[in-house]
Amino acid sequence: MPAVQRLRSVQQRIAAAATAAGRRREDICLVAVSKTFGPDAIAPIIAAGQRVFGENRVQEAKGKWPDLRLRHRDLELHLIGPLQTNKAADAVRLFDVIQSLDRPKLALALAAEMRKQDTPRRVLIQVNTGHEHQKAGIAPEDTAAFLAFCRNEARLEVGGLMCIPPVADAPEPHFRLLKELADSHALPIVSMGMSGDFETAIRLGATHVRVGSAIFGERVKPAAQ
Ligand SMILES: *Cc1c(COP(=O)(O)O)cnc(C)c1O
Repeated sequence: MPAVQRLRSVQQRIAAAATAAGRRREDICLVAVSKTFGPDAIAPIIAAGQRVFGENRVQEAKGKWPDLRLRHRDLELHLIGPLQTNKAADAVRLFDVIQSLDRPKLALALAAEMRKQDTPRRVLIQVNTGHEHQKAGIAPEDTAAFLAFCRNEARLEVGGLMCIPPVADAPEPHFRLLKELADSHALPIVSMGMSGDFETAIRLGATHVRVGSAIFGERVKPAAQ
């Protein structure tokens, strides 16, 4: 199936999941995750009307998005992968939304860059809902303290929360936890759900679903975590 057809199918499934959950379609944003795919694969998806994209590596995004953005001024790019502090400047330059804020040092670096570039960016806190050692993210029980740090020390505007559940787990408890945490802090954005579980995520309150392979097809190159 061509990617544009797969995009349409994902859009329809999002609409159906929203309706089933008694939610409005426009309250759910599809982030098309284009990691490992080049401009030739991305261009038809832009032409089909998709405007919000996700990438998980700064270096990779730097190679393909500046050109695409010159041709399409209304795109919105999200960083959904781990960010090293020394790449904060590039990240603020390239991305409209940084979904993977996970530590105080990075919060300070991003805030400093946003001031320096005079470019405020929306940030989401990544929560490690599965307490996985190898995975980035703040422990759920530390969310309140980290949120306070981001607001009061770094002076960042935090828009919401993001999670990537453990691959071996059923996603529901993780999605429920993330939604509860977001609600308890009155954070409007809840980024959760990928190709295999975005309908479940929508049922449990996702405002942003990050869908890659269901649109672009299977990734040939392994994507860096
Ligand atoms: C790759 C990736 C996705 C998309 O995964 P698919 O299963 O291909 O939809 C979503 N979120 C993050 C953080 C990713 O790295």
